[in-house]
Amino acid sequence: MGRRERVYLSVEEIPKYWYNALADLPFQLDPPLNPQTKEIMKPEELSAIFPDPLVEQEVTTERFIKIPEEVLKEYAIFRPSPLIRATNLEEYLETPVKIYYKYEGVSPTGSHKTNTSIPQAYYNKISGIETLVTETGAGQWGSALSYAGLKFGLNIEVYMVKTSFEQKPMRKCLINLFGGKVTPSPSLETNFGKKILDIDKENPGSLGIAISEALEVVFSRNKAKYALGSVLNHVLLHQTIIGLEIKKQFEKINEKPDVIIGCHGGGSNLGGTILPFIPEKLSGKNIKFLACEPKSCPTLTEGEYRYDNGDTAGLTPLMKMYTLGKDFIPPKIHAGGLRYHGSAPIIAKLKHENMLEAVAFTQDETFEVANLFAKLEGIIPAPESSHAITGAIKEALKAKKNKEEKVIVFTLSGHGLLDLTAYS
Ligand SMILES: *Cc1c(COP(=O)(O)O)cnc(C)c1O
Repeated sequence: MGRRERVYLSVEEIPKYWYNALADLPFQLDPPLNPQTKEIMKPEELSAIFPDPLVEQEVTTERFIKIPEEVLKEYAIFRPSPLIRATNLEEYLETPVKIYYKYEGVSPTGSHKTNTSIPQAYYNKISGIETLVTETGAGQWGSALSYAGLKFGLNIEVYMVKTSFEQKPMRKCLINLFGGKVTPSPSLETNFGKKILDIDKENPGSLGIAISEALEVVFSRNKAKYALGSVLNHVLLHQTIIGLEIKKQFEKINEKPDVIIGCHGGGSNLGGTILPFIPEKLSGKNIKFLACEPKSCPTLTEGEYRYDNGDTAGLTPLMKMYTLGKDFIPPKIHAGGLRYHGSAPIIAKLKHENMLEAVAFTQDETFEVANLFAKLEGIIPAPESSHAITGAIKEALKAKKNKEEKVIVFTLSGHGLLDLTAYS
């Protein structure tokens, strides 16, 4: 058996700044449009749903954004996360390739989402907000926001996609454990939810519907704002803590990655992983960025690149992205976190500019890989994360065939200990 190589950083080595790729990307993002007027949105308009510091982070082109002390203190509870060499997997594949994974399952709720829920709660708190309303697909975002709300004294209300609510009751427990309130969506608590249920009582829900419900609630309340767990520029910004740590960890072992992989739902763990490597890529280094998504929700591989809403009701700004259409309801796959019709504008643009490649895998093949990985590496991956593992294995086998000595790194976005029903 191979030696277990783990690259740790000390708490003092947690990066003190997030990296803003907008400062370096060789293109401008197409601006978000007002969903009613189709005019370019002004930052002030975003202030209806987000607090000012986050609106500022959404549009700034400053290269490094200082992480507030209060946020660093909370990060230090679970960060830096380990970079682990998948020696057993390498041996199993009999490949000359080195495979590393950045393990985000060490967070309080078991996924990378606390990297952004903590700063989001912090910035809302200092802006005088009392309640955050959000949606959650598989429940990871809801539990991450609930945890952050607890840390900064905010009420958290979560609209959870009904299929996941039924399939993943433990996620609801987790949200409640941290003091958040959960409502299955579509619900009778909003006009939009009622309208959907009038048409189809059995509607399984979708992220788009849940976002619509959450926004309706925000617009009807005082001192309430909305929080989004993926897609937006400021979310990807917060997630760059992942890639920045990976860079430091690779420096420690004098290694550089050739292929960087993440699973893709809305683009936050992928963006957070790859964006800090944009300067290297732009300077001509041959680094491959790879997005892995489910065949049943093939946003980047089969979606259209155009303006679309982030939600079903059409309340969110129109954003230029790869989309399967805002009314797309993905099949009930276990990788609930990857059931989103759209993508982050930054990720979409990278794909469109051929700086990012994308592949799609079936549920069967990713579960086979997840089982193999659990047995070899001793970590049960979230069904979402197993898409990234599948991508890494395919890349490793390709390099083996071509006799290339590559270094592959992927982000293991979360553990699957609350997804064991999916495994069974
Ligand atoms: C939410 C989630 C995802 C997908 O979201 P992204 O924004 O694409 O990162 C992937 N993995 C896990 C474990 C998640 O919780």
